[in-house]
Amino acid sequence: MANSRKGRHLTQMKITAIDPFYLRMPDITTAADGTQDTLLVRVETDTGLEGWGECDASPLVSLAVYCCPMSHGNIINIRTSLMGETLDAPDDVLRLSEKVLRNGLDIQQIQHAYSGAEIALWDIVGQQLGKPVYRLLAEMSGSSDVAHRKLPYASVLFGDTPEATYQIASGLREQGYRAAKFGWGPMGKFGEANDIALVAAAREGMGSEAQIMVDAGVVWGNDPETAYRRAEAFAQFSPTWLEEPLAPDAIDAYRALTQKHPSVPIAAGEGSNTYRTAEDLIVHGGVQFVQIDTGRIGGIMPSFEVRQLAEQHGIQYVNHTFKSHLSLAAALHVFATNPDFDLLEYPAAGSELSQRLVKDPFRVDPDGMVRVNDLPGLGVQVDTDAIRDYLAPVRIEVGTDTIFAVQDF
Ligand SMILES: [Mg+2]
Repeated sequence: MANSRKGRHLTQMKITAIDPFYLRMPDITTAADGTQDTLLVRVETDTGLEGWGECDASPLVSLAVYCCPMSHGNIINIRTSLMGETLDAPDDVLRLSEKVLRNGLDIQQIQHAYSGAEIALWDIVGQQLGKPVYRLLAEMSGSSDVAHRKLPYASVLFGDTPEATYQIASGLREQGYRAAKFGWGPMGKFGEANDIALVAAAREGMGSEAQIMVDAGVVWGNDPETAYRRAEAFAQFSPTWLEEPLAPDAIDAYRALTQKHPSVPIAAGEGSNTYRTAEDLIVHGGVQFVQIDTGRIGGIMPSFEVRQLAEQHGIQYVNHTFKSHLSLAAALHVFATNPDFDLLEYPAAGSELSQRLVKDPFRVDPDGMVRVNDLPGLGVQVDTDAIRDYLAPVRIEVGTDTIFAVQDF
């Protein structure tokens, strides 16, 4: 044991800092736009390497999971669990994930919050080993390490009216998008005729050759009958899928819906905050597309495990990404090596904050496709000027103790 540790000595890194940063736009609205604020996590090591990750969750609630005082042995914050730990290889990420989740057994938001740190750990290990994260995952799982291009679909909200939706769709088509998803907003709120008119407008604006997807934004809750009727009504516009027609945990309703074999495939899964939730949707809900947010489910590894489950079940894995291209990078590494999972949710209309967060955002190549960066780690660089511009100073005090403070960057 002593020898093997000694053998690793030259490359042994220690985690020296874990810092969550709360960033936000000056004005936050109720629009279903998750790019208005964010929680970034930076992990630093004693060798000077740093990794970054982003969570898609309530930033301050998640930030608390990095600094909350210990309540007992099952409520220990993420920072305490990671500080001083060794980080050299993918196995270390798995070991540390186990430790963090075990120590946070009774912290409900733990996976959500930990996602940012987990992604940052992969970023560091990839840099240390000089390999992109997708290749580390391929080595671990014994699968192909060839990355494949993805067709980016623009992910936007429906306009308030069919006319406004048509304008949005036409604009995306002019920008060269061959696929686009329209979601939330008025969908499901003003009756069937309006719902159909919205989808018709999206199709008309994108043209007959494009792929369109419809995101109902959980609007039919626990009602598989209405969801089924809408799926049948939308079928004339050939959407690739109908997404989240039902509440995230309405597993019985999803089963009732998918057992009727609607003419439009059903997609769901972005609300999965554990591997188990996603498994439930696949195994019991019967969805045909599972959509995983790497920044919610606990990071890259649980996302990769859902990808593997999707492969076993012969359904499609798709990323859910409505944050910056830091999140997009993490999402892309998870399924870059599967050529059949060829669609990529591509944030197309995010806030200035989300657009500025990464120095080298993923461009759509001249062939209309997006490729993972073949660089060590996540392969993207966070723009520290953007962090400075959008940082919300946070100070948390309990009595006379300051348990968290980030005043500037
Ligand atoms: Mg969605």
